[in-house]
Amino acid sequence: MQFYAESLTEYKRLATLEVKVGDLLIGNFHPIRVQTMTTTDTMDTAATVEQSIRCIEAGSELIRITAPSKKEAENLLNIKNELRNRGYTTPIVADIHFTPNAAEIAARIVEKVRVNPGNYVDKKKFELLEYSDSEYLEEIERIRNRFTPLVKICKEYGTAMRIGTNHGSLSDRIMSRYGDTPIGMVESAMEFLRIAESENYYNIVLSMKSSNPLVMVQAYRLLIQNMHAELGHCYPLHLGVTEAGDGEDGRIKSAIGIGTLLEDGIGDTIRVSLTEDPEFEIPVCRNIVKRYSLPTQTPPEEGLTNTPYPLKEFEIHSEIAKSSSVITEQNLEIVESSKSLSSGEGFRERSRRETFEVNNIGNKHVPVVIADLHKIENITSENLEAIGYTYDVVTDKWNISDLAADYVFTADKQIDFALPGTLKVICYYNAWLAVADNIKYSPIFDAEQYLDDKIIKSSAINFVMLDCYSEENPKSNIENFFSKVKPDKTAVICLSSTNKNAVQSIRRMFFELKEREIKNPVVIITDGSHESMDENLIHYAIEAGALLLDGFGDGICLGHRFAEKKVSTDHKLLNSIAFGILQATRTRISKTEYISCPSCGRTLFDLQDTTAKIRAVTNHLKGVKIAIMGCIVNGPGEMADADFGYVGSGPGKITLYKGKEVVKRSVSEDVAVSELINLIKENEAWVEPT
Ligand code: SF4
Repeated sequence: MQFYAESLTEYKRLATLEVKVGDLLIGNFHPIRVQTMTTTDTMDTAATVEQSIRCIEAGSELIRITAPSKKEAENLLNIKNELRNRGYTTPIVADIHFTPNAAEIAARIVEKVRVNPGNYVDKKKFELLEYSDSEYLEEIERIRNRFTPLVKICKEYGTAMRIGTNHGSLSDRIMSRYGDTPIGMVESAMEFLRIAESENYYNIVLSMKSSNPLVMVQAYRLLIQNMHAELGHCYPLHLGVTEAGDGEDGRIKSAIGIGTLLEDGIGDTIRVSLTEDPEFEIPVCRNIVKRYSLPTQTPPEEGLTNTPYPLKEFEIHSEIAKSSSVITEQNLEIVESSKSLSSGEGFRERSRRETFEVNNIGNKHVPVVIADLHKIENITSENLEAIGYTYDVVTDKWNISDLAADYVFTADKQIDFALPGTLKVICYYNAWLAVADNIKYSPIFDAEQYLDDKIIKSSAINFVMLDCYSEENPKSNIENFFSKVKPDKTAVICLSSTNKNAVQSIRRMFFELKEREIKNPVVIITDGSHESMDENLIHYAIEAGALLLDGFGDGICLGHRFAEKKVSTDHKLLNSIAFGILQATRTRISKTEYISCPSCGRTLFDLQDTTAKIRAVTNHLKGVKIAIMGCIVNGPGEMADADFGYVGSGPGKITLYKGKEVVKRSVSEDVAVSELINLIKENEAWVEPT
């Protein structure tokens, strides 16, 4: 069985074929390319050119433009000519849905066409169809007949192609045979790939997008396995989370989905889909990609030499994790979840690492959030507002928000006022010894203190820090640590890594724990030290999100080392990012989820403005998923598993959905937001804001 990554414990890029898009090379270890898509009307040449230039100047290496019909496809020539006349040679990609005729025109003009196998020939009407095997083969033949002309044109003109599967727009045919599964997504692309290869056409990039990072990550992994197994090679991969939304949540969701795969060495080009102007996507892309092009990246050998684990154990795991040939042991969580993927199970479920419960951490508990306030000299009740607790002097009560941290880390300080009932304190051993309240306060030890039997421990809960990469952890001590912690039902392990490849380093430790059947809960500690919070946000989302998405971690703590350079830490933002990461990995739902498309030339209303209006009146609906989609052509399919949908269906007209079902058609845009609220109320998903 071919595994999806070169290694799970070292950073190694997946080998892919080289694809030429104009003068730009993608795959085959070329730098990871960043790209975006215009939102203007493709018939508005001037506006599309101006927006394309803004994106190019921001750093976009490809520009995608929608071509919904033949006339837009033809107008790509005017857009391309104007860009070239103005000195911009960036390759253009035509985005095609439903219209093979438009694709065949565009393929003669631009450097790349994107087709969606869910709707290039097939249709999506949410119908359950029944096919016999021979009828199914006839359908494949129909696709071959309709798709082959495009392949031939691309071959003749040297045009590249992206076969871009979207989770939300799997065809009725694929859904009927494979269900809503990763196999369905993969098979949808493989059908087109087989046809292209039968014409000896290989200039192809693939994508497997979803608005749910978990689904997206699993689908890409399965695609890689299948390509290797069936074709013996792997095409370059375009990564993206669709309909990620806007602002902080959109960035977190995108960074987790894209970053989890990039950490595994997967991905040759990326697009971050935000409901914002497309040029704003590029800095986010660049902050993500930057992590994988730094010359300071730790070489695997260095990581191996410095690893605190016994070398023998590491070699075993290294063999498993390399898996360039065969998986020799089946004892890794990821391998197990990958196997369940192949059977179509586990698409929405993660395989969470098995742990026992220590207080409110581990086992079935949602991951906890630990707020690191240790740099505040005197912690006051006002400081707790940043982490979700507001003290009301009049009632002498705490208001606890849905984004309230569970623990606060104070280092060597005590807090001199009565804390909210749900908040507990973690402090160093000496501070803990000095406080009388052993229920509210819990000690945190380094590994050496923990191993020292002379040091008193709490009878309830003890946090133990372990830097997975520190040379201060003598190898002999690690085995002692494992032996001591395993039977200790009070110990919560806090894992961090100073290795530049921290995800791999911490993941390696999770494998070590798994190998020894150590089931203590684990809190993932991630420190950010970038100059800008934008970069730190990407850093936190990838380093914590990639592990949580694979079922590792029972809590997170985000630290900000830059504070040492006298830059104040924004605790409110850190707390919000922590909950955002848990929400995006769907490990702890604490707020409304918005699935909003980035908009494009098909968009029928002001998406940014409307998303902001809907967000303002619904952002207290914890756990409710609301989709805001620009057009009726792709919107209903792409809104995936949203509970309610607000979809543009004509100029000034909105169609409202409950799940996949149309509930109100052609609602005037002026009243559509209030009609959406009525719909939420009718379905008893509404609560009044407090
Ligand atoms: S759903 Fe949005 S981004 Fe997708 S095609 Fe429609 S308007 Fe464009």
